[in-house]
Amino acid sequence: MNDFPGVLRVGDLDIAVSVSPRRKTVRLTVERDASVTAVVPPQVSEAELAKVVEAKRPWLYGKLAERRELGQARPARQYVAGEGFPYLGRSYRLRIVEPGREVRLIRGRLELGRGGGARDLVRWYRRVGESWLKRRIRPWAQRMGVEVTGLRVLPLGYRWGSCSPDGKVNIHWATMQLPPTLIDYVLVHELAHLLRHDHSAEFWRLVERALPGYEDCRERLRRLGPDLWLPEEGR
Ligand SMILES: [Zn+2]
Repeated sequence: MNDFPGVLRVGDLDIAVSVSPRRKTVRLTVERDASVTAVVPPQVSEAELAKVVEAKRPWLYGKLAERRELGQARPARQYVAGEGFPYLGRSYRLRIVEPGREVRLIRGRLELGRGGGARDLVRWYRRVGESWLKRRIRPWAQRMGVEVTGLRVLPLGYRWGSCSPDGKVNIHWATMQLPPTLIDYVLVHELAHLLRHDHSAEFWRLVERALPGYEDCRERLRRLGPDLWLPEEGR
């Protein structure tokens, strides 16, 4: 494997390969920018690696789809009067008010203090998201028979949500830009992960039971993701 190429092409996948004498098995990773890397033990041949990649193809595609949902380039926003920002599936225009004021949504306008920017808006999404999502997740948790011990709204890179086995759920603040039905899908998805930590058939059955026709939500989320506002400061 000494002359192994830096990038191996398997089907339509480009995989950046590095060799590590410490590894006993091939490790495949889908990075945040939706690139795929492999760390392989020295004795693995190109054909063997290709075989591993083939076997893991469905998993890789699933991961890549997840990363790409939130990972694409999106139009930059300006912090000037009239600029639109999505909230619960609708667009709200900015009204610039006196400097130093906290962001608030009032009479159909999003008020931003002069000189304010991404940081202030992200803080607002997190603040409103915290109370909105805590209310919203309760009936879903009840219906699915899971206990949520905490909910935080924060930047999560290119993921919509995450959770830990002790019942803590994290939701990306950018989720608050989605229509409520799609937010429900994000919540149900994380709640189902409290019961199943993988994306197995059993996991999707749990999602389906709570949210019949969830595939439609998943598809809409995939299409909507790239239109959301995700500034550098909020990732
Ligand atoms: Zn998941």
